[in-house]
Amino acid sequence: MERSYRLVVLCHCILNANAIVDGEARYPGAMGEFLAPLVAEGTGIIQLPCPESTFLGLRRCPMGVEQYDSPAFRRHCSRILEPFMDQIQDALQNGVQVLGVVGVKGSPSCGVTATCTGRMSPDTRKVVDFAVRYGSAGVFIQVLRRELLARGIDLPMTDVDNGDPSSASWKAAREELTAEAAEAPARGGSNIFVPPLHISSGF
Ligand code: SF4
Repeated sequence: MERSYRLVVLCHCILNANAIVDGEARYPGAMGEFLAPLVAEGTGIIQLPCPESTFLGLRRCPMGVEQYDSPAFRRHCSRILEPFMDQIQDALQNGVQVLGVVGVKGSPSCGVTATCTGRMSPDTRKVVDFAVRYGSAGVFIQVLRRELLARGIDLPMTDVDNGDPSSASWKAAREELTAEAAEAPARGGSNIFVPPLHISSGF
């Protein structure tokens, strides 16, 4: 069977709820309703690593973007992303259409259109005043965007709410990615610029 030459990049817990902070998951495994039409249309998936669980493990506490925004966490994000950057670049250089990135709305790490904020209480040493902050991305997505642009790759991005999985629609996400891709020239650049693949003829 001919392959589709088309893929989308998904944040980790869209396919694996076990990475989510203990007690916060709203589905047992993968976001099946979101994924079913994506799989049915023949789009491939690159699943990014979960930056929080690979940094602090599965027993971590809920935290906001202020607590994750540290040089060490940013360096961790950059390090775990590197092989995935290679995979995305290689796919583009070999004629695979990369539709974009789907993150997790409201996450301090993987939010695209919204992240969450909070402060550390000096009394309890717990994060309090948790709130969603619209219009700003999580730390992992900030690093991802920077690393992609450093390679000349400007991918559209959107996010889905993993706290309300029935609201997540692949059709809507795909339309958002397509609309953002169409706007790329207005942002002052092409949607995707990838240097051509140089094949050595020295052998
Ligand atoms: S939103 Fe990102 S950091 Fe949080 S569990 Fe999902 S993949 Fe991990």
